[in-house]
Amino acid sequence: MKIVQTFKPVTVAQLFMRPKLTTAEVIVDATCGNGHDCLFLAKHSQPEAQIYAFDIQTQSILNSKKLLAQNCLDNKVEFYQENFVNIKKYVDKKLDLVVFNLGYLPGENKNITTCVNDLCLTIPLIVELLSIQGIIIIVSYPGHEQGKKEFIWLEKYLPELSNKVYNVGKYQLFNHQKPSPIVYIVERV
Ligand code: SAM
Repeated sequence: MKIVQTFKPVTVAQLFMRPKLTTAEVIVDATCGNGHDCLFLAKHSQPEAQIYAFDIQTQSILNSKKLLAQNCLDNKVEFYQENFVNIKKYVDKKLDLVVFNLGYLPGENKNITTCVNDLCLTIPLIVELLSIQGIIIIVSYPGHEQGKKEFIWLEKYLPELSNKVYNVGKYQLFNHQKPSPIVYIVERV
């Protein structure tokens, strides 16, 4: 496989996911959008891995299914048109890898975006559901109104997680116009 060396946030998020995908059995894409993250998860996970993908938009589910089908990976993923707040209703298992690529679909309706009210209900639930060495990757976009609220909440909530139970890190390009996207990683130890 050709490895593209770039340090854009979404690519760095994938660098964090890649080693985990060699062992992950239960994987969640909380916001499948156009399916790019989902495709990455399906391509690089083990054949027996279970992948669950969520999005509130019909079009996102259709686009994601189409992309996965074009790559012959659609039967590896269960899709749900559902708010990520309800993940636990569908996946009542310990989670090895969970991805939240927040915000709205680029080029689409910016009003259909993730919001802090849903995020602050969901992240604490998911943190509890992580398996030992399970990880959550969150890509946050503080450059729009809802994204800024999510960012403020994440910056308060994540550092307060006990370092006896979790490692929490973050990555952001330093020399780009602010506010640039941030990748947070939460690992259960
Ligand atoms: N992961 C996607 C990809 O690779 O194409 C990009 C995701 S896009 C930045 C954010 C997505 O979150 C949108 O498709 C939007 O519909 C979805 N979304 C917004 N609020 C949501 C919620 N509460 N639960 C699930 N999906 C949500």
